Amino acid sequence: MTIKEEVIKRKTFAIISHPDAGKTTLTEKLLLYGNLIRSAGTVKGKKSGKFATSDWMEIEKQRGISVTSSVMNFPYKNFQVNILDTPGHEDFSEDTYRTLTAVDSVVMIIDAVKGIEAQTLKLFKVCRMRGIPIFTFINKLDREGKEPLELLEEIEEVLEIETYPMNWPVGMGKRFLGIFDRQNEQFIKFNGNEEETHIPYTELTSPEHQDMVSKAEFESAKDELALLDEAGDSFSLEAVLKGEQTPVFFGSALAPFGVHDFFDSFISLAPSPQPRKSTEGIIEPSNQDFSGFIFKIQANMNPAHRDRIAFIRICSGKFERGMSVKLSRTGKVFKLSQSQQIVASSRDTIDEAYAGDIIGIYDPNAYQIGDTLLEGKANYEFDELPKFPPEVFKKVMAKNVMKSKQFKKGIEQLVQEGAIQLFKDKRTESYILGAVGELQYEVFKYRMENEYNVEVLFETIGERIPRWLKREQVNEALFDDRNILVRDRDDNYLVLFRNEFALNWFKDNHKDIELIDLFEVNSYD
Ligand code: GDP
Repeated sequence: MTIKEEVIKRKTFAIISHPDAGKTTLTEKLLLYGNLIRSAGTVKGKKSGKFATSDWMEIEKQRGISVTSSVMNFPYKNFQVNILDTPGHEDFSEDTYRTLTAVDSVVMIIDAVKGIEAQTLKLFKVCRMRGIPIFTFINKLDREGKEPLELLEEIEEVLEIETYPMNWPVGMGKRFLGIFDRQNEQFIKFNGNEEETHIPYTELTSPEHQDMVSKAEFESAKDELALLDEAGDSFSLEAVLKGEQTPVFFGSALAPFGVHDFFDSFISLAPSPQPRKSTEGIIEPSNQDFSGFIFKIQANMNPAHRDRIAFIRICSGKFERGMSVKLSRTGKVFKLSQSQQIVASSRDTIDEAYAGDIIGIYDPNAYQIGDTLLEGKANYEFDELPKFPPEVFKKVMAKNVMKSKQFKKGIEQLVQEGAIQLFKDKRTESYILGAVGELQYEVFKYRMENEYNVEVLFETIGERIPRWLKREQVNEALFDDRNILVRDRDDNYLVLFRNEFALNWFKDNHKDIELIDLFEVNSYD
C-alpha cells in the first residue's frame, strides 16, 4: 500500500466529556467493536487492575488514577482507529488540552440529564479555536433527561456551533422507544437489553408496529422531526470538517443503544490525517519523508529505569523502527530504535507507523514538548503548540536554599515535560508555577523530592485568570500583587487576574489593551 492509502485509512480522535458523562462506557463499546477487548467492564481497570495503564508512579497508585493519557488503536472495517484518551477528573491537566493538538477530530459526549458541563466547555473551546471537527454523542437517553430540542439549543447557544441531529430520539427514560435515523431513513427500535431492531420508515405503517407508532411520544417526535427537516440547518460535511457544524447523535452508551450506528457514521465522516502548518509551509501527510511532533512527554513509566517516553504524532510519511531522524530545534540526529506503541495497558514494540498514528519513543532527555522530528534533508518546524491557560498558581521555592542548583534543574526538566508551567513575577523575580489542576502540584512536589532530592515549599496564590499581553502593550504600572504581571519561559508577558470581576474591570478601563486567552504562535500577528 502507498503512504497515501495508509494515511486515508487513519482516523485519529479524542473523546472529550465532563467526568461521569459516559466516556469510559462508550470507549469500552468502541473497543469491543474493534475486538480490542472481549467483554465490557474491563476498561475501568483503575479499580479492577486489568487495564491499569500506569502503575509506574507511586502517586498514581495511591490515588488509583491515571495521571497521563494513553492511546488505543485497532483496525475497524477498512480503517485504522486511533483513540487518544483525555484524562479527566482530578488529573485534568495541560496534557488533556495538548492531546487535542494531536487529533484530527473529537467526539464530545454530553450527558442528556446534565447538558453541557464545565470541563466539556473548556475542551470544546479549544477545539473551536483550532477548528477541530466535533461529533456530539448525547448519552443516557435511557434516563429522564432534558428535552432533545432544549439540548440542541444549549449546544448552539453555549458552544456557538451549528447542530445537525443525525438521529432523533422518541421518548426518553422509561418511555424511550428508539431513534429515527435520518440518514438511512429507518427507525431503530430500543428493545431494552435485547438487540435493537432496524425498521425502514416505509414499514412503520405495518400493523405489527401499530402499538408503537400510535404512542404520544412517537407522534411528538415525528412532529419535531418534520420541524427539523423544514426549519433546521441542513447537513454540511464541509461545515463539519471546518468545525462549524456538529453532527449530533442520541443514544445510550450503557445499553448500548445507537453506539454502533454512531461509530459507523462517525468513522465514515471523520477526517483522515490533515496537512499541518510548518515554517516551510503546509506539510501533506502523504509526503514520503517522515515528520512528526512531540505533544507529550511522560516520565518514569518504568520506575526501575527512570526513563522518559516522548509521544509523537506522525504528521507525514512512514515511521520505521531504527530509522534516523533529526531534531529540528538542535539539528541533532537520533536513531529511533526503542519505539513503542502505547496500547491502553501494554507497551508493544512497533515496527512501522504512518501519518496519523501516535508512537512513543524513548527520550534520552533531549526532547521538549512541541519539538519537530524529521527524516531526510528537510529542515522545518511545525507550528508551536498553543500555551493553555493554567488555573491554579503557586509561588515555589526550595526548602533548603543550599539546594537551589538541583531545584532549578528539577524545575527546568519538569516544566519541559509540560505538566506544569513556570513563570517569573516581574517585580520580585520569584518563581510562580501554574497548572490546570491541583494534582499537578502534588506530582511536582513528589517528583522534586524523589528524583531531584529537593523539598519544595509552596505559597498559594490561588485561582487566577491568566491573559497574555502583546509585548508593546506591557505597562508595569497597571499591575500590582492583586493582578500580577509575570513572564513565561519564552519571555511573553501575562497578567494573572484575581477573578472574573477584576478581568472585566480591566477590560472596561483599558479597551485598547488586547488580552489573549490561548497563546498561539500567531497571537502576535
Ligand atoms: P466517565 O467518567 O465519563 O468515563 O463516565 P463512565 O463511563 O464511567 O460513566 C459514569 C456513570 O454513568 C457510570 O455509572 C455508568 O454506568 C453510567 N452511564 C454511562 N452511560 C450511561 C447510559 O447510557 N445510561 C445510563 N443510565 N447510565 C450510563
